Amino acid sequence: VTSAGRGAIFLDRDGVLNDPVWRDGAPASPRRATDFRIAAGAADAVRRLRAAGLPVFVVTNQPDLARGTLGAGEHARMLSMLRAAVPVDDVAVCPHDDADGCACRKPKPGMLEELAARHGVALARSVMVGDSKRDLEAGRHAGCRTILLRRDYNRGLEADTVVETLGEAVDEILRNQRGECDVVQ
Ligand SMILES: [Mg+2]
Repeated sequence: VTSAGRGAIFLDRDGVLNDPVWRDGAPASPRRATDFRIAAGAADAVRRLRAAGLPVFVVTNQPDLARGTLGAGEHARMLSMLRAAVPVDDVAVCPHDDADGCACRKPKPGMLEELAARHGVALARSVMVGDSKRDLEAGRHAGCRTILLRRDYNRGLEADTVVETLGEAVDEILRNQRGECDVVQ
């Protein structure tokens, strides 16, 4: 992990950029494009990050692809809907399940590391924003600062910062960025 280079913002998808669906009483990933809803405020939050010069990347586990409960076509349609509505710079998808032993499934940091290498981003200056333990651990393993969006379903998780909404996470990131600039100058 190098501290040279610019930082980026890594965002989880389900429960951060789009509303989760509820399956067996737990938040889950939508399996049909007709169930895919962009979260309120998500597009505005991402626009603010990019206006501040921060690249924004999505890192999402989609194990239903490996399990056969999510079709490739529906998945592609949902990603198209996301990218049409929210101006992110790049998206990494892990289509695997635990048994595949991949390097990308969060809590592993593979997707963050690959995007960082592809875009020349310093992970030590980057932030991972998510709503699950897997997100926070992936961010920590990659050497990023972590921000948790607090939900009823994730009480008790610890992160560097805990906020209620993605908009508040962006407020915090931009405050922090300004603070770091003051020190450098
Ligand atoms: Mg999530």
